[in-house]
Amino acid sequence: LAIPDWEEFCSDIRLIYDNVAPDRGGNNADYIPILRDADPERWGVAFCTVDGQRMRLGDVDVFHSIQSVSKPLNYAYALLREGSEFTHRFVGTEPSGRPFNALDLLPDMRPFNPCVNAGAIMTAGIIASGSPDREAREITGDVMNLWSRMCGGIDEVRFSEETMLSERATAHTNYAIAYLLQGRTGLPRDVSLHTMLDLYLSCCSIEMTSEMLAIAAATLANGGVCPITGEEVLPTEVVKKTLAVMQSAGMYDNAGSFTLEVGLPAKSGVAGAVLVVVPNLMGFATFSPRLDDYGNSVRGVAFCRQLVDRFTFHIYDSL
Ligand code: GLU
Repeated sequence: LAIPDWEEFCSDIRLIYDNVAPDRGGNNADYIPILRDADPERWGVAFCTVDGQRMRLGDVDVFHSIQSVSKPLNYAYALLREGSEFTHRFVGTEPSGRPFNALDLLPDMRPFNPCVNAGAIMTAGIIASGSPDREAREITGDVMNLWSRMCGGIDEVRFSEETMLSERATAHTNYAIAYLLQGRTGLPRDVSLHTMLDLYLSCCSIEMTSEMLAIAAATLANGGVCPITGEEVLPTEVVKKTLAVMQSAGMYDNAGSFTLEVGLPAKSGVAGAVLVVVPNLMGFATFSPRLDDYGNSVRGVAFCRQLVDRFTFHIYDSL
């Protein structure tokens, strides 16, 4: 068993969950109504080990948009479909140290990495450029199918039309980024800028629960094999690169501090989700909509910090 004393582990996790619950710091994202009006009291934590042991605490069944949590899987999908060489011709792998929606690019004009908006928009362009005759929504269906296999199909991966419409109506900065990319780097195979942006925004508008995200995280922890179904969803080579990018750039411009303190590959989204991977051991996901100044869930980050205080999960705890 990955965790020999499961009962004891679960009671420790419950303590941390309860410790973090009273923290009402931070604020909901407010750039679109569906996020602004989300219940800020929601608090859920779900775990899944690489051998399929699972635990659920609180609001793990609430569907919410995955937002930036979509970015690492889109990167993995680009690697899978187009390979590393083609993908990295268009997007870099350096942490940016800049806000997620900054217009900054690397000196060679590529976006910094697949987890900042510029890199994620370019990654959507890479994916879309492989299917020039298909619309963004159709391609999003393929991405949803990949998420579904990542989480062992325990529940239906949904799409929020409301989120997508609001995202599109407020995507001015993302449009600016897309035009900048087109002007500076050029888009992969001259893909349509609108298809690229629609795919990016549609993937942000995919809805899942913490329980589903925890299993997807466990699939990453397990080198790409889903612990629930045993299916090899992603090749280990792809997972390795995806986790490396999450480690250096997954937590917005707080990724460096998060790696120092927590030391785990993770990705957060502005709806309040954090997906965290403990390689070879487990995946977990937290959901709590109030965000800190970087855009990370306040309770999600606090939970991660307390977790590594209690358990030797930090990648360098084995030293
Ligand atoms: N969909 C939003 C955007 O692209 C936010 C993504 C996020 O950081 O979770 O601006």
